[in-house]
Amino acid sequence: MDQNESSANRRRFLGQALAVSATVVLANQVLAQPQPKEPGKGPKPTPPGLADKPSKPAAPGNAGAAAPAAGAGPSHPSLEQPPLPYPQGALEPAISATTLSFHYGKHHKGYFEKTNTLVEGTPFKGKSLEEIVKGAAKGKQHQKLFNNAAQAWNHSFYWQSMKPKGGGAPSGELAQRIDKDFGSYEAFKTQFTQSAVDHFSNGWVWLVLDKGKLKIVDTHDADTPLVRGQKPLAVSDVWEHAYYLDYKNARKDYVTAYLDKLLNWDFVAQNLA
Ligand code: FE
Repeated sequence: MDQNESSANRRRFLGQALAVSATVVLANQVLAQPQPKEPGKGPKPTPPGLADKPSKPAAPGNAGAAAPAAGAGPSHPSLEQPPLPYPQGALEPAISATTLSFHYGKHHKGYFEKTNTLVEGTPFKGKSLEEIVKGAAKGKQHQKLFNNAAQAWNHSFYWQSMKPKGGGAPSGELAQRIDKDFGSYEAFKTQFTQSAVDHFSNGWVWLVLDKGKLKIVDTHDADTPLVRGQKPLAVSDVWEHAYYLDYKNARKDYVTAYLDKLLNWDFVAQNLA
């Protein structure tokens, strides 16, 4: 080996040694960086039932997520369907357990599931149900989300608008408000019933507070007074799925039973307070 060849070998060796050292240093730096967590190993999601409890039991309309669970995906829905405020058979015979089991267990549940799916990857994720309804109402591009979120909200409000052994004329201050704004309880009942009977196709009949006055309004499909500047006080679902198993096409009989046997005036009073 002559001197030139020896020098070339030495340079080659030094170059390789430097490359190995640089690789080791780089690897150590990478290992020192915070590593991304594996899916499913992040913070535990908020247990179902805690993420979206109503702020107060009597106001299920406020049911919605207080905060989204970190990393929550479709399998960790941030909105949870509130429980029925009574057993499924508690409203019989006015509304059968069969109707409630389908209405609550299939229809209402489905609206929550669809809403949870639709908010994934949008700014609506992590908002309360009421915020989603109001936000989605602002643009036609959110129509599908509005329909499902508003139906979820409306139904939660509907369950609270009824109670076993409810209905009939209210008493006390509420009776005076009804007399003042409708003339009499009978006039209120006639107007509410007529509004339900006259409502074309699917929708809702509401008792609302509008500019300080009690009013009866009806809304179509998923529409809700929440996005109309009116304060909902009570509601009757007049979609056919609410009454068809029990009353067939006799919507008037269903609404009469709602007013005579079910309407929760305590809930109305709480919403007015
Ligand atoms: Fe319904």
